[in-house]
Amino acid sequence: MAAVRQQEVTHIIGGGLAGSEAAWQIAARGLPVVVHEMRPVRATPVHKTAALAELVCSNSFRSDDREHNAVGLLHEEMRRVGSLIMRAADANQVPAGGALAVDRDGFSAAITKAVEAHPLIEVRREEIAGLPPAEWESVIVATGPLTSPALAEAICRCTDEDALAFFDAIAPIIYRDTIDMTIAWMQSRYDKTGPGGSGLDYINCPLSREQYDGFVAALLSGDQVAFHDWEAATPYFDGCLPIEVMAERGRETLRHGPMKPFGLTDPRPGADKPYAVVQLRQDNKLGTLFNMVGFQTKLKHGEQVRIFRTIPGLERAEFARLGGLHRNTFLNSPRLLDATLRLIAEPRLRFAGQITGCEGYVESAAIGLLAGRFAAAENRKEAFQPPPSTTALGALLNHITGGHVDADPAAAGAPRSYQPMNINFGLFPPISGLPTRGDSGQRLRGPAKGLARKQALCRRALHDLEEWSTSGPRLAAE
Ligand SMILES: Cc1cc2nc3c(=O)[nH]c(=O)nc-3n(C[C@H](O)[C@H](O)[C@H](O)COP(=O)(O)OP(=O)(O)OC[C@H]3O[C@@H](n4cnc5c(N)ncnc54)[C@H](O)[C@@H]3O)c2cc1C
Repeated sequence: MAAVRQQEVTHIIGGGLAGSEAAWQIAARGLPVVVHEMRPVRATPVHKTAALAELVCSNSFRSDDREHNAVGLLHEEMRRVGSLIMRAADANQVPAGGALAVDRDGFSAAITKAVEAHPLIEVRREEIAGLPPAEWESVIVATGPLTSPALAEAICRCTDEDALAFFDAIAPIIYRDTIDMTIAWMQSRYDKTGPGGSGLDYINCPLSREQYDGFVAALLSGDQVAFHDWEAATPYFDGCLPIEVMAERGRETLRHGPMKPFGLTDPRPGADKPYAVVQLRQDNKLGTLFNMVGFQTKLKHGEQVRIFRTIPGLERAEFARLGGLHRNTFLNSPRLLDATLRLIAEPRLRFAGQITGCEGYVESAAIGLLAGRFAAAENRKEAFQPPPSTTALGALLNHITGGHVDADPAAAGAPRSYQPMNINFGLFPPISGLPTRGDSGQRLRGPAKGLARKQALCRRALHDLEEWSTSGPRLAAE
């Protein structure tokens, strides 16, 4: 990096999804950045490589439907405002029906290459093991759910708040050539093709009623990894429940969750309709690895192998990675951060990514993108309006910086506790003037009405994003 004035430099701690995106946004505005990433000098309990923006579990960015789905809309908004993460995801897509899934190694290699090659970005491989030095005037902390303990403790001390915590679980990955394709078959649910799929993107393993009952019983009696004392009272994030926890909620729960059989037909001649189905999704570009969709688990490794091999088609499965469970750490952001993600108690520190209490790869990158833009504008002493809350970017930011803190009428007006959140339509302001009739004049009811509402929210979001992005400071290259 060319010699620059110290006060122009933004220091980003953590080169994950959020940190990489933030660095890219700042450098794209002609300002210098130093990214401090501790891997490979110091490992996290989950990351496996030294690459930037490593995906620690699923390789899916979830739905890519920008017309009816909140995360699909967020993808589209990020593409339109120049996201590096979305560019690399699109370039490394693997087939996954209506979802955007990526070759994980290709994806993080692309991010690493882009960030390391940028003339305004320097990557230093070091742990920042406490609050950053006072002379760093602009800092983005993007250290994620597995923030190293020394930094986490320093943040806790300076915020005078207890960090909250919950658990995230990871699902196993299987070598494709060990799956018995005389039993399993390729099909996307309802034959959906999606943007990059063929309608035949998932491997499906069918279970009869007896096999399903046996499988659920095995899960319930399987040996689980014991919790440490400090973990015992920590809640799960509902979007990432271990399968054995779902099984505990009722015999049918899995059959209506990750093992649902709907929209899938066993093509073998004379085959019965499956009672339940386990789906596996391609995990790398080569198509040699497939992950078990929704099969996060805290079963002991030996138990996972034993129980998952009872699934028809997986009798001889070899596992490239087994599932596991990890703690997450996040700030009480609505209380601690201002509207531009700065720590109120120490405004030179801005936060981004999962540590702010958003949940998921895409959401973390989105908040990284906004933190980068806020930091760049501040450095240039430019006014920068946050995106309107009618956009997915704005709705997510609003959730983090205070929008969600409603009084809870069910609890005598007490404020609701802050919980991590994926992007969802519930975070968007309501929309008025919804169509009551469809294209052919029929009255909209039930699901059709819901779909029309989502479509209207998405259209409004993209319209408002366009106005926002054309009214603010422009990129040199734009
Ligand atoms: C076990 C597990 C499974 C998950 N599964 C999924 C999933 O399937 N799908 C999904 O969408 N999301 C999943 N998540 C959430 C996912 O991690 C986050 O959504 C996303 O990676 C967060 O992005 P981030 O940039 O905030 O953090 P990260 O991507 O984790 O990046 C943080 C970076 O900071 C570095 N770092 C930490 N402390 C320091 C320090 N003191 N100094 C320097 N560097 C430091 C780390 O090495 C890391 O590279 C999972 C999380 C966990 C923990």
